[in-house]
Amino acid sequence: MLHESDLKKFLRCDKYYWFSKQKSVPYLPFVTHNYDIYELIQEYLELKDPFVGQRGDETSKTLEAYHEGKNLINARISYRDFRINIPCLVQKEDKKVLYLVYSNCYPKANEAQKIHDLLKVMSFNGMEVDEIYLLHINANYERGESFNVSECLMVSDEFYNDRCKKCGKIMDHVNACERDLDDIIDRIHALGDMSEVKKERSSVCTAHYKCEYFNDCFPNAFHDTSIMNLVQSSKKYDCLEMGIDDMAQVVGDEVEASRMQYAQIMAAKKQGLFVDKFALMGWLSKITYPITYLDFEWQTYVYPPYEKMKPFDVLVFQYSMHVEDENGLRHEEYIGKEDCRIEFIEDLISKIPDTGTILVFNAQGAEALRLQQLAEQFPQYEEKLRSIWERMLDLALPFSCGLVYDVRMAGEYNLKKLLSLFSDLSYDELEINQGLLAVKKYRELENEENEEIKQALYKYCEMDTYAEYVLYHYLKDLVKK
Ligand code: SF4
Repeated sequence: MLHESDLKKFLRCDKYYWFSKQKSVPYLPFVTHNYDIYELIQEYLELKDPFVGQRGDETSKTLEAYHEGKNLINARISYRDFRINIPCLVQKEDKKVLYLVYSNCYPKANEAQKIHDLLKVMSFNGMEVDEIYLLHINANYERGESFNVSECLMVSDEFYNDRCKKCGKIMDHVNACERDLDDIIDRIHALGDMSEVKKERSSVCTAHYKCEYFNDCFPNAFHDTSIMNLVQSSKKYDCLEMGIDDMAQVVGDEVEASRMQYAQIMAAKKQGLFVDKFALMGWLSKITYPITYLDFEWQTYVYPPYEKMKPFDVLVFQYSMHVEDENGLRHEEYIGKEDCRIEFIEDLISKIPDTGTILVFNAQGAEALRLQQLAEQFPQYEEKLRSIWERMLDLALPFSCGLVYDVRMAGEYNLKKLLSLFSDLSYDELEINQGLLAVKKYRELENEENEEIKQALYKYCEMDTYAEYVLYHYLKDLVKK
């Protein structure tokens, strides 16, 4: 059976689709869906006794409910072996209204293709639609004491653009999406064994995110100084065509020459390490003792689970803090459960030093933002929280801005990679060794007390702040040399 996601994969890259059928990559959801959207829409639209589709339903079952005049929720229909879901069809006396349901705040126009396919398959099956709306989450909803579905969801007859502004009627976009479903289905079926098919690397392989099968397609294809590891560069493909496959070969304006790219190229020419000592000393001079190394863990909820939260707000459930002062290094930690926001704030405030620099890896996009959100929800703590985020300094900056670049970084500068390069430490031995796994384990911990999981979470977060301590001292040592 083929699904819309299969068509999408195939049209992105035939080998990508083929891989996805050979070995699926486990999916760890980034956000927590704390309500079932299909239950919410029944309540929102006040649908009594609708037909609710189940996994594996035959089209005949859906059609039977349709002809009985029932409202349909998440109902399956097929054309050939292509199966697609009808999210919600409300059958009124005078018209049939199709609601496209989204667990996000701004459904984008790129959804129009899927709607076009859905309407086509519905039409193949003799189903009619008179009106179409998008049913999605209201970004401005702020939860009160209880969850209010009629305020949290909303209906729109337009799609949204990347700036979250309305950008045109649904059918104007859908009508522009004509495509030959039969042709695509036939081409998928004709796909043979692609294990031996050699693909050229293209922007498709890394557009938006790196393809899950990248290493299968190009095993060890790129050495550390490969031009393909040049960051934020669209010109690297031109370089390849000109025969420049190593950053060390770049001499002039073949690339964009950002500060980071300059560091990469210089390190490649030296076959080792590039350090902008002057700039690094300037950055280090901002740091004052005591130094606090800080890291948070959090989870993102699609629907606000507690008062004063909005859709897709995060709830910080853990912190780790190493404090370095004249007495050496000490460690503090916290894990909370359920609505632990106030407990988290009070615990943090009580243990963090009142003075000195707070070093955080990716501070502005993460920890500082988390504290600002908490200050909005609990203004009584704003002053103290502000004093924390205002003392934060981003430890990622020397690496992301090209102050320090080691060819072994191969274009990456995340905390785990840097720790493994500049110390003997590694996350590999830890039971929890990445952020999404920490969130998954925390979800388990929320359901039942489990000391083992709690300890594994403590160790993971502690490793992050210890890694920050190690990196800071690595940078400090560099300017002494
Ligand atoms: S790495 Fe590129 S060529 Fe290989 S499967 Fe992914 S998108 Fe296709």
